[in-house]
Amino acid sequence: MNPTVLSTKAELRQYLEQSAKRRRLSVVPTMGALHRGHQSLIGAGREHADEVLVTVFVNPTQFGPGEDFDRYPRTWERDLERCEEAGATAVFRPSKHEMYPAGEETRVVVGALGSRLCGASRPGHFTGVLTIVAKLMHLCGPSSFVFGRKDFQQLRVIQRMVADLFLPINIVEHPIVREGDGLALSSRNAYLSAEQRIQALAIPRALALSHRAHAEGRAPEELVSLVRSRLQDARLELDYVEALDAESLQPLSTEEQPKGHVLLAVAAFCGRTRLIDNLVLGVDAAPTVAE
Ligand code: AMP
Repeated sequence: MNPTVLSTKAELRQYLEQSAKRRRLSVVPTMGALHRGHQSLIGAGREHADEVLVTVFVNPTQFGPGEDFDRYPRTWERDLERCEEAGATAVFRPSKHEMYPAGEETRVVVGALGSRLCGASRPGHFTGVLTIVAKLMHLCGPSSFVFGRKDFQQLRVIQRMVADLFLPINIVEHPIVREGDGLALSSRNAYLSAEQRIQALAIPRALALSHRAHAEGRAPEELVSLVRSRLQDARLELDYVEALDAESLQPLSTEEQPKGHVLLAVAAFCGRTRLIDNLVLGVDAAPTVAE
């Protein structure tokens, strides 16, 4: 069945009023350029509710100056087909003005969870993310929101916001969806040339190696060095490679064994394209990679 397309807050409100009487709702926020990873999130949404609303909005406030807001892939016709294929019941595709009307100025500011990793490399990014996600959560009301672990830090800062602001939202986490050769699916993979696409495989390969090294008992800092050297060998420009506490996203204590899970997170440039990936040690399976 064709998903209902909603363009304004008023249309969304009307849709929610009609569906609220009979159904539970899942929401999958996206920036469009949908791929199999997004479709898998929609599938997870269906498991938690009777209706799945996908939002498609390239959120200007989460892009910094000089980043790719203007050239971010916009593939609306395809997106709608993909939403239908995956079983979404509605798609909310607001304009910029609809989400940020003239005169608006309020922001949801991230705390310490946003201080490292992407928060350090992309100042203001998570404030933009939290602001748009808070707006969407407020518009949708009590529901399940589905987020991918591909954007691990994003997931954590959103979980924190939901707890801190007492939002009536159930967060559903979804594992990373990868291509057959191991590369994590991303809308930004469309920027890669054929040669860069091969070069980018160094990221899942390095994570697979670190998975093995962890199983052999190597310490997190050794895994960081291993991943760094592999990515440098592949001539990727590193943004960060870090092993952090997977809950607090703060550095691991050097004196003792890590208490909780450890997140190994990577961001690297392949040409001008910034790619991110991660592994939670001892929890995630190794990426299956092409040799
Ligand atoms: P985006 O459209 O890139 O902002 O992503 C929208 C949602 O899809 C976010 O919750 C992402 O974490 C999630 N997502 C994007 N790519 C993947 C992937 N390869 N695997 C799992 N989730 C993903």
